[in-house]
Amino acid sequence: MDTATGSLIQYKLYIDGQWVDSASGQQFESYNPYTGKPWALIPRGNAEDVDRAVRAARKAFTTGEWPKLTPSKRGALLRKLGDLIADKSKYLAEIEVRDNGKLLAEMGAQTAYMAQWYYYYGGLADKIEGSVIPSDKPDTFNYTRFEPLGVIGAIIPWNSPLLLTAWKLAPALAAGNTMVIKPSEYTSASLLEFMKIIEQTGFPAGVVNVVTGFGPEAGTPLVEHPLVAKIAFTGSDVTGQKIYEAAAKGLKRVSMELGGKSPNIVFDDAEIDNAVKGAISGIFAATGQTCIAGSRLLVQQSIHDQFVERLVAFAKTARMGDPMSLDTQVGPVTNLPQFNKVLKYIDIAKSEGVRTVLGGAKATRPECGDGWFVEPTIFTGVKNSMRIAQEEVFGPVLAVIPFRDEEEAIAIGNDVVFGLAAGVWTQNMRRAFLMADKLQAGTVWVNTYRAVSFLSPFGGYKRSGLGRENGQEMIKEYLQTKSVWISTAKEVPNPFIMR
Ligand code: ADP
Repeated sequence: MDTATGSLIQYKLYIDGQWVDSASGQQFESYNPYTGKPWALIPRGNAEDVDRAVRAARKAFTTGEWPKLTPSKRGALLRKLGDLIADKSKYLAEIEVRDNGKLLAEMGAQTAYMAQWYYYYGGLADKIEGSVIPSDKPDTFNYTRFEPLGVIGAIIPWNSPLLLTAWKLAPALAAGNTMVIKPSEYTSASLLEFMKIIEQTGFPAGVVNVVTGFGPEAGTPLVEHPLVAKIAFTGSDVTGQKIYEAAAKGLKRVSMELGGKSPNIVFDDAEIDNAVKGAISGIFAATGQTCIAGSRLLVQQSIHDQFVERLVAFAKTARMGDPMSLDTQVGPVTNLPQFNKVLKYIDIAKSEGVRTVLGGAKATRPECGDGWFVEPTIFTGVKNSMRIAQEEVFGPVLAVIPFRDEEEAIAIGNDVVFGLAAGVWTQNMRRAFLMADKLQAGTVWVNTYRAVSFLSPFGGYKRSGLGRENGQEMIKEYLQTKSVWISTAKEVPNPFIMR
C-alpha cells in the first residue's frame, strides 16, 4: 500500500533489463498477512512472458558483455551486489515482512546475512579450476574445464524469498550462467525490489530476469522451456515431484530442496533449559514456516512430563502480533490457504486422538487483529504413525513423541519419508556422534538448531531433495565438465583403431 495515496503499489516484470507489463496485462493482489488486506499488484505472467525472459537470458548467456567478462570481473560484480544488499537490507526486510509476515527481527538479520552469499560465491568465481589429466596415450595433452550450463530457471517459495534466491543466484552467476526467476505468487514484491539493486549493480541486460505469476501459468512453462538448462527449486515435495517429471521430459538438470518432518530429539542427559529453547526455536520461530522446522519433538520417556511442562510454560510467554514490531515473537501464517491448511492439520491431529497441551486453534488475541494467526500448538500422546507426525504442516504445530532409548529414537527419527534435518540434545559425546551417524538427514545439529551458513552444504535425504546448496562443492551443480584432448603427434596414427 502506498500510504500517501492509499492505493496498491503496482509492480512490473523485469525482463532483459526492462520493467514491463505482463503479456496478458493482468495482475493479481499480494496480501499482507498481518492485516489480511492486499497491498500490492503483481503482474500475472504466463508462457509468453516466460519465453521472452528465457530468450533474453539465453541471448545474454551467448552474446554481449556477460560471456566476455573474466571470472574475476564476474566475482567483482557479485561482491558489489553484496555491498548494495548490505546497504539496503533493512528496506528489503520490510518488504518481505509486509508480504510474508515473518518477523522483522528475523528478516532484518536474514537480508543482512544474505550479502555473504554474494561475497562468498563472488570470491569463488575465479577459483573454478580444471585439471590436467596425466594422459595414458602417447603424444596427447588432456585437460578439463568447467563451463556454465546456460539459462537457469529458479523457482522460489514464499517463506524466505530473497535468501533462497541468493542460494541459487549467487553460485549460478559466479559460474557464468544467466537466470530467470519465478517467485511465489504469495511473495513476489521483494524480488522485484531486489531487481532494482541488480540494475544498480551493473549486470548486463538479460543476465537476471523475473517473471511473476502462478505455478501452473508461469512456473510450468519455465520448467518446460527448451532453452532452460537446469531448474533450481525450493518448495513442497508434491510440487517438486511435478517439476522433476516435467524436467525429465527435457532431460534437464534439477536441484531441489523440498519439505521436511525433522525430529528434534531430547535425551534425559540434555541441559534442559537449552533443549527447551531448542524445541521452541525448532517449531515456533518463523511461525513454523521453515522446511527445517523441528516439527517432531522426540523426548526420552524418563523426562517427558517434566520437559513438556517446561516447554508449555515457555511457549505460553511467546508474544504474538505485528511482525514489524521488534518485540513480537510469533507472527502470522503467510497466506490464507496455508492458514487453512494449518487449522486443518490441527483438526486431523485431534481426530487422531492426541492431547492438546497448548493452543490448538486460530489465535483471537486482540494484538492479532484480522491477521492469519494460529496459536502456538503442542500435541502430546502422538504416535509416529499418525498423519500429524508424518506430513509436513508448515506452521506452529508441534507433535511430541516419547521414546525409550537411543535405538528407538533413531528408529522413530528416521521413520518418515523426509530427511532434511535433525536435532539432538545430549551432553554425552558418544551419543552425539552416534546420532549424527545414524540419523538420515542432510543436516544434523547437536545442542543447537537452525544453524545454516553459506559455507556449509545444505539439502535433503530421501523425499527432502536432490543435490545440495551452499558451500564450495555445490558450485559444480551450476557447471558442466568438458574434457579436451590435444594431440602433439606429428601424424595421425591408424585411423581405423580407436586410440
Ligand atoms: P509452497 O507455496 O507451499 O511453498 P509450492 O511448492 O507449491 O509450495 O510452491 C513453490 C513454488 O513453486 C512457487 O513459486 C509456486 O508458484 C511454484 N509452483 C507451484 N506449482 C508449480 C508447477 N506445477 N510448476 C512449476 N512451479 C510451480
